[in-house]
Amino acid sequence: KLYNQVQDLKGSIRVYCRVRPSLNGQSNNLSCVEHIDDTTITVLTPSKTGKEGRKSFTFNKIFGPSVTQAEVFSDTEPLIRSVLDGYNVCIFAYGQTGSGKTYTMSGPTELTEEGLGVNYRALGDLFELSNQRKETISYEISVQMLEIYNEQVRDLLAADEIRNSSQNGINVPEAHLVRVSSTSDVINLMNLGQKNRTVFSTAMNDRSSRSHSCLTVHVQGKDLTSGNIIHGCMHLVDLAGSERVDKSEVMGDRLKEAQHINKSLSALGDVIAALASKGSHVPYRNSKLTQLLQDSLGKIMVNSSYISTVSFRYPMQYSLLIMLLPNLSGGQAKTLMFVHIAPEYEASGETISTLKFAERVA
Ligand code: ADP
Ligand code: MG
Repeated sequence: KLYNQVQDLKGSIRVYCRVRPSLNGQSNNLSCVEHIDDTTITVLTPSKTGKEGRKSFTFNKIFGPSVTQAEVFSDTEPLIRSVLDGYNVCIFAYGQTGSGKTYTMSGPTELTEEGLGVNYRALGDLFELSNQRKETISYEISVQMLEIYNEQVRDLLAADEIRNSSQNGINVPEAHLVRVSSTSDVINLMNLGQKNRTVFSTAMNDRSSRSHSCLTVHVQGKDLTSGNIIHGCMHLVDLAGSERVDKSEVMGDRLKEAQHINKSLSALGDVIAALASKGSHVPYRNSKLTQLLQDSLGKIMVNSSYISTVSFRYPMQYSLLIMLLPNLSGGQAKTLMFVHIAPEYEASGETISTLKFAERVA
């Protein structure tokens, strides 16, 4: 039974890979993606000697270039719905700049109904489901929008900086938490957040690709019969571009940005890999990003280390503990990483390193 539990815990980290279509005007480009099926992707690995190799990677799911936003969402929906049952969920978009992270999470710049990304669909779904349950459970849904730039956390719904935020977990107490009850509320807030993000970016353009942005959804449900309260939380994170920057080519602010991004993405990789391998030490404190997400990424670890310590000393009480654990810890965590691939042949170096990162956390 312990074995099954541990398998379940490991099963709470999922990796989906999405391949962006070739963009307009580049449709004749040779692609570095040789083959994809439902769970395996094979990419070409050109070498300096001109001899081409190929490497295959396996993930929970591969979305090819023609997969729609609705199809991507339908494979994400069960995870999102679990927030209403008190789970903590983290969804990340990872990949080099231009690979489609923002498209998956938010949608194209000119937003259409079909183009709506995971963020909007997720909230729409939570509203719909909470409404269906309203006879038995009364839900309150609130959102925060944060940006992490150069290891500083900023509140995008307030347009001023949060000082020394989030030493221990998901709540950034100083950050605005705004109650929402419809998709149009969310669209308005996202627009405000986007506007504030532009204000912050001052002289440096396209800062969005060099910062992490995080939409956090807090859900509180009250069972109308028992009076019990459940909390769930979901972080939807559009990560900074993962491309490696050639240190010999950048200086000053650009170099500092690149170093911060590098540090936080590798800290994130380390944390997820430690969780997936159930290592005893999970290095949350190495970046603002992982500190911010600690509660949501960490519940699994809290549970499993607790199970193994206690069951070792008190084997008889073990199964009772398993039953209590979800309540003791306030829920469990589920993590989904979308890794994004640009199909162009020139992108193959970054594509391989993106897939290697993903392979490590899968
Ligand atoms: P990133 O956020 O990773 O830098 P974007 O999401 O901005 O990348 O995508 C780069 C460009 O490619 C945008 O113009 C976007 O609309 C387009 N794009 C990305 N993914 C898709 C897709 N699956 N289908 C159609 N267009 C896409
Ligand atoms: Mg983007």
